[in-house]
Amino acid sequence: MEGSTGRVAKKKVAVVGGGLVGALNACFFAKRGFDVEVFETREDIRLAKIVKGRSINLALSHRGRQALKHVGIEEKIVSKGIPMHARMIHSLTGKQSPIPYGKKGQVSLLYILTLLNFFLYNFGAAEAETYPNTKLNFDHKLQDWSVETGLMTFVRSDGSKKQTTADLIVGCDGAFSATRKQFLRQTRFNYSQTYIPHGYMELTMLPINGEFAMRPNYLHIWPRNTFMMIALPNLDKTFTCTLFMPFDEFEKITTGDQVIEFFQKYFPDTIPLIGVDTLKRDYFRLPAQAMVSVKCSPYHIGDKCVLMGDAAHAVVPFYGQGMNAGFEDCNVFDEIMDQFSEDLSAVLPEYSRVRVPDDHAIADLAMYNYVEMRAHVNSRWFLFRKYLDNL
Ligand code: FAD
Repeated sequence: MEGSTGRVAKKKVAVVGGGLVGALNACFFAKRGFDVEVFETREDIRLAKIVKGRSINLALSHRGRQALKHVGIEEKIVSKGIPMHARMIHSLTGKQSPIPYGKKGQVSLLYILTLLNFFLYNFGAAEAETYPNTKLNFDHKLQDWSVETGLMTFVRSDGSKKQTTADLIVGCDGAFSATRKQFLRQTRFNYSQTYIPHGYMELTMLPINGEFAMRPNYLHIWPRNTFMMIALPNLDKTFTCTLFMPFDEFEKITTGDQVIEFFQKYFPDTIPLIGVDTLKRDYFRLPAQAMVSVKCSPYHIGDKCVLMGDAAHAVVPFYGQGMNAGFEDCNVFDEIMDQFSEDLSAVLPEYSRVRVPDDHAIADLAMYNYVEMRAHVNSRWFLFRKYLDNL
């Protein structure tokens, strides 16, 4: 259809969820000239005085970098990350042993960066906004949408509602996707979700005398049979330490003194680095978080709606590929758009056909790594080499 400007009217795409995958997806669609609207439940964190929520460090691998490259933002993102050259294993006695990535000569292939989640959110939103055909709607939470009409209903924090339609709805609203709810009502839609018995908790290691408390270009790891702690550096010279542990173990620790006793037993070298008072306080700041694995198929409904990122495939983080797989979703979809000349009735089924098996394989590998970790409690090196080989 040609408008009064002579420009062929492009279809309208609604991206639900302006997280990592949603923001990147908006760039992909905008680059194609579609009219893109992003609907994100949170407020615009660039304007917020206090940023609520969590920040996790994420390892960006080759898979994710390829997608960033496609929309021309790889270097911008990578330049803000911290390269990881090797893993650093911390023994119980405090001995540190580096394990380089890959074999000799392969290091560059396994070059990994850590990125602060909020940085990416922030950056993704800013990048999407550089396209004139993109509109970001913050404080818009998808409540429901109609498969028949495509009408979406959003609620705002003041209780008001907004309704709108789009030619294509792209559900990038994470592991607990509201977009996906309509899929559950469709026949022949397969869905499963599994919570694992482990939870995770983040603790911050502040800089010491203005410098990183540990060597920064390493993924620091404390393998302790069924527990594990990892630490990744941030640009502000802090480290985010993530403790993975079964929920029953988290729940056994109820006082500050018990926290120190626990750390003294399993992670003694971190006590002077994190600090006794900080540990006693931060352990109780937020409860340990659950980890869920979600699998579903297909990823589309007709030519109307498609799921990407965690909305389609939340994976447990033991393979370090959740975000990277979500970024790759955008890339694969884009390639199929080329193959089928943007005919959504052909693109969407093809996307499900191609992408479901690959995403399910990543989910299985992540779960396999997790199960291995639990099963081989007496074979520390075996299990952590398996985990590490993917990070
Ligand atoms: P999300 O990041 O969850 O974003 C979803 C967005 O949708 C959010 O902004 C949310 O506010 C919004 N939203 C939700 N509901 C609605 C609604 N109803 N309406 C509108 N908006 C809505 N991945 C890696 O690749 N490498 C790693 O090293 C890595 N480490 C991890 C470590 C941990 C401890 C965990 C838990 C995960 C890790 N991951 C890692 C996985 C990664 O965090 C996720 O795969 C990634 O965040 C998925 O991005 P997403 O945009 O699909 O979903």
